[in-house]
Amino acid sequence: MSGDWRAEVRGRLADSVVTFDAPMARAVTLRVGGPAECLVELQSERDLEAVFEIIAERQLPFHVLGKGSNVLVRDEGLRGLVLRLGPAFRSVRRLENSATVEAGAGISNGAFVDQCRRWQLGGMEFLVAVPGSIGGAIAMNAGAHDGETAAFLRTVRVFFPRTGISDREAAEFQFAYRESPLRGNLGRMVLRGAFALQRLDEEEIRGRQQRILQWRKEHQPSDFPNCGSVFKNPPGDFAARLIDRAGLKGHTRGGAQISEKHANFIVNRGGATADEVLALVDFIQETVYSRTGVMLELEMQVFPLEYVSLG
Ligand SMILES: Cc1cc2nc3c(=O)[nH]c(=O)nc-3n(C[C@H](O)[C@H](O)[C@H](O)COP(=O)(O)OP(=O)(O)OC[C@H]3O[C@@H](n4cnc5c(N)ncnc54)[C@H](O)[C@@H]3O)c2cc1C
Repeated sequence: MSGDWRAEVRGRLADSVVTFDAPMARAVTLRVGGPAECLVELQSERDLEAVFEIIAERQLPFHVLGKGSNVLVRDEGLRGLVLRLGPAFRSVRRLENSATVEAGAGISNGAFVDQCRRWQLGGMEFLVAVPGSIGGAIAMNAGAHDGETAAFLRTVRVFFPRTGISDREAAEFQFAYRESPLRGNLGRMVLRGAFALQRLDEEEIRGRQQRILQWRKEHQPSDFPNCGSVFKNPPGDFAARLIDRAGLKGHTRGGAQISEKHANFIVNRGGATADEVLALVDFIQETVYSRTGVMLELEMQVFPLEYVSLG
């Protein structure tokens, strides 16, 4: 990393909020992890382009963060920049009285689904209990209750490091189970998405939302910080079932615990470190593999990633 990049970031990003030595434990739902050298809450596309110019010129490492609901930040923290979308990217509008809704990638899934319900547009209620942003939902192809984000996505506005911002058809991209080629670890940043919903009665949508929230309350832990499912479900099975069958519920490493309520959740019972969470991850993978031959794959994103170089 060359020169005084901090001064340049501070000086060139006129619209955005820049914080140095930002505590990342506050920015992720699991509430663990060390600080980031610099957290930028972007407030304009102009600043987004400017910050990527600085990143490329000075070869800085960077990470893209949404609401941090599927991210573990390691205890040593993050070098370089963490980029997050600010309030300017949280607008939502219905296109010409149609069933298509365009949403800024920074809006929370809950706010998006609620607004769609008020327009009597439904189908994406499965996102009501996924506590991330629309950008994170597109990047992760978030899904639940037999629905997934990519099935509704029609167009997407994305920043690509080498070509800049463009509006693209969603069909151009290959989405899979909790996977997309638009994720921040590939140096890409989703700015907006347009979704085709269905015209439905508001009460019917509200009822679906309530049933989903009730199901979550009964089946998933809500009493301690967590980051949702730690592992992807292996083909034809459920990670939670395999972990439960291996007798691992309730095991702890320091303040981190395999949830008693849902075996695919690791909860922070207070003061957990990222190392303790990762020790449980290893323990689960090794135990499940030795008993079943299945190596569980992480769904949770561990930062720092292999740093992306734009040089
Ligand atoms: C209680 C709980 C329940 C959950 N239930 C579900 C569930 O049912 N189904 C499900 O799929 N997930 C679930 N999750 C996980 C998580 O909420 C989703 O993966 C969500 O889509 C992540 O969105 P986020 O904005 O928090 O992204 P983050 O967690 O901040 O980031 C996740 C990944 O997306 C990338 N990313 C984020 N925003 C952007 C962007 N704008 N452009 C490019 N890349 C981006 C990041 O770089 C990172 O790789 C749950 C989590 C919790 C805590």
